[in-house]
Amino acid sequence: MICVCKEHMKKGLTVLNCPHVLLINKYELRKCSFCKQRASYKLFYSLPYYDRSEKKRMEKI
Ligand SMILES: [Zn+2]
Repeated sequence: MICVCKEHMKKGLTVLNCPHVLLINKYELRKCSFCKQRASYKLFYSLPYYDRSEKKRMEKI
């Protein structure tokens, strides 16, 4: 998972293949991975829990 500020949102999206985006709570202090300024978004790959349930569903079909 990486954190990005508004400026580096697009850059973060191009770095990860198929990222999910979460808005960072304004009380949560995170630094942007690119410029070390205060981050506004978290970018990460799909949730592991979600992946697992998706696979199970596929196996049943
Ligand atoms: Zn930044």
